[in-house]
Amino acid sequence: MADKMKAVVKVKPELNGTELMMVDIPKPGPNDVLIKVKVASICGTDVHIFNWDAWAAGRIKTPLVYGHEFAGEVVEVGNNVDFVKVGDYVSGECHIACGHCMQCRTGLAHVCQNTQIFGVDVPGIFAEYACIPAANVWHNDPEAPAELCSIQDPLGNAVHSIFASDVVGKDVAVLGVGPIGAMCVSICKHIGAANVFAVGRKNEYRIELAKKVGADYTYKAADDVLGDVLDKTGGKGVDVVLEMSGNANAIGPGLDLLRTGGDLILLGVYADEVTLDFSKRVVFKYATIKGINGRRMFDDWYRMKGLLKNPGIRKDLDTIITHRFKFDQFQEAMETMRSGNSGKVVLEL
Ligand SMILES: [Zn+2]
Ligand SMILES: [Zn+2]
Repeated sequence: MADKMKAVVKVKPELNGTELMMVDIPKPGPNDVLIKVKVASICGTDVHIFNWDAWAAGRIKTPLVYGHEFAGEVVEVGNNVDFVKVGDYVSGECHIACGHCMQCRTGLAHVCQNTQIFGVDVPGIFAEYACIPAANVWHNDPEAPAELCSIQDPLGNAVHSIFASDVVGKDVAVLGVGPIGAMCVSICKHIGAANVFAVGRKNEYRIELAKKVGADYTYKAADDVLGDVLDKTGGKGVDVVLEMSGNANAIGPGLDLLRTGGDLILLGVYADEVTLDFSKRVVFKYATIKGINGRRMFDDWYRMKGLLKNPGIRKDLDTIITHRFKFDQFQEAMETMRSGNSGKVVLEL
């Protein structure tokens, strides 16, 4: 095997400080595996790193091979690894949990106190080869296409959010119609939500995407969303709000859509502090608010494997993957993602 590979590297701590260049192929340690990447997918996190915003500047050390969403084939395993074999078709959970903190020892490894994320804290997978701990490997269903398997990180976020409440037979509002919002719309419909109301800020492309994957009603934030939702739910409001937008201004109006005694599930990450009338909007409303982080290891992965067998969900995910590029076209792929006029953007290696 050659000893160099093509990789996307954040070389300089600035916007556009990214280069597609040759780097050493990583050598797996005793508990690691080396994977030939077949498909990689661009995440919002990668856009933050590309843009070098405040979050990236505070967290990322250059140079860094970034990227964390992928599917590929194992080509080498470390000496201690006996449950992953050369030739296995895999993806990977990008949160590397320590295994010994209180959370790890009580079934909450997704919020490990010492989490490292590949493509953020340690080298990632926008490369011909990726080296990850064997404990993070997920064996994909051989029947599931690599493109779909490459987006299990955001799909797992959607699954974690949806199953944090109970949406079957219920009215659900999805706030934010980026790729994860669209995934939420699709899954909620396929598992039996009554009505799904999808609210975007203003991006027509993404609102249209939410419609294509099954939203019963779609809105822009400036529309009379509350009036229409109350009208369509007989004055009740929705049973569950899935907040996927990360816009601090969406939470108050989101709670207004929620019926008394409903659940507000938050996956969005907020740049600004959120100010709310908690007495009116949460206490007297008897609302349950739950924050979501990562994917339950590996409950959400098992659930995804099952959901990926559903032809309707697979078809919707195919629709949510709106752009496919060759790895060499990384720059173009990233620009497409940054434009906002896309769903998931994947790179084929
Ligand atoms: Zn991601
Ligand atoms: Zn831990």
